[in-house]
Amino acid sequence: MKQHSKYCIIGAGLSGLTTAYKLLQNGENDFIILEARDTVGGRISTKNNIDLGAAWLQNYHSNLLDLINELELKTYNQYTAGKSILMYNTMAPAHYFETDPNAPSALRIAGGSLALIEALSKKFSDKIILNTKVKGISTVNQNATILSNNGIYSCEKIIITLPPKLASTIIYDPELPEHLQRAMDNTHTWMSNAIKVGINYKTPFWKANGFSGTMVGQVVPVVEIYDHSNYNESSFALMGFVNESLRALKTNNRKEQIIAYLEKYLGPEARNYSDYFEKDWSKDEFTSVKSLNSYYLTPKYGNSVFDTFYGSKSLLFSGTETSPQHGGYMEGAVISGFIAAEKILQNA
Ligand SMILES: Cc1cc2nc3c(=O)[nH]c(=O)nc-3n(C[C@H](O)[C@H](O)[C@H](O)COP(=O)(O)OP(=O)(O)OC[C@H]3O[C@@H](n4cnc5c(N)ncnc54)[C@H](O)[C@@H]3O)c2cc1C
Repeated sequence: MKQHSKYCIIGAGLSGLTTAYKLLQNGENDFIILEARDTVGGRISTKNNIDLGAAWLQNYHSNLLDLINELELKTYNQYTAGKSILMYNTMAPAHYFETDPNAPSALRIAGGSLALIEALSKKFSDKIILNTKVKGISTVNQNATILSNNGIYSCEKIIITLPPKLASTIIYDPELPEHLQRAMDNTHTWMSNAIKVGINYKTPFWKANGFSGTMVGQVVPVVEIYDHSNYNESSFALMGFVNESLRALKTNNRKEQIIAYLEKYLGPEARNYSDYFEKDWSKDEFTSVKSLNSYYLTPKYGNSVFDTFYGSKSLLFSGTETSPQHGGYMEGAVISGFIAAEKILQNA
């Protein structure tokens, strides 16, 4: 049996949840959110106080900061005091540097980035349908129809917040215009190639040894790693990006290389970790598609093809990669979420 609602948001990541939040604020509650995963958040995922997806925001991410304040959440500075380490060459010894304490700091969200997702989604948790992978969308009839592994849904307007490359794998009837399909296929999914690692410790031994926990280098097992202790300073961790050359290794072999590296530069206590987590986003079918290419530079996002409705004015593409500003980042997800809500309310 078909379930009908006025609006249907596909994807319960930051963008889709921001759209839902704005709809509610504007007195519109006839919507549902379909989410393929068994959790909300998408590329925001916090486990054991470790942000395995998005972790930082900047003080110029004003839409995100306003939203965080509105939801009465707190931010705090990324810890950088002490010696940081730079390894730029396999032949050269490690270089040590200290961060200017007066330079603007990257910010983290107290409680982890997932705190933002939880604060948003609890306002309309009854409207989120998990474990629902959208496979097809038909805009042939007056109401659009969504086919999923969990039933059929009909609605007047659909907001698709999947990364465009992934949205392109949904089957559309009628087919999308070729220029749109091409733009979607060519939009790199931000961070879809990243492998994150988070390691919990009972004490922040690196601080005691005079280190900030920041270590950077292209020739080492973890290309960037940082202190990842929580806001209350009751949980201590290091978190970073694994060198992609270790992707093909078995977990234990990768883990051994990472721990040995930390041990060598931060101290023998690195071996006494209490928990170890990894997440390879390239292997997550709800973020990545198979044709994966490494991408280190910020690609140009916010293609103007995403500005208009498709499918007889019932389909709108949103999500961070469609944002005209700060595409790829949480700020871009929030901006795209606001824009989508505004557009569908104006075109109601
Ligand atoms: C490792 C990593 C590190 C990052 N670091 C930062 C950072 O420090 N700072 C920052 O600002 N940003 C960072 N980002 C980017 C940030 O996470 C994203 O900008 C933001 O979370 C994107 O939100 P979104 O809603 O646009 O997309 P997503 O979070 O990808 O949401 C899309 C949703 O659609 C769902 N979905 C997928 N397919 C289907 C389907 N067929 N049917 C139904 N649902 C589906 C997904 O499960 C997901 O929940 C990072 C991302 C990663 C992966």
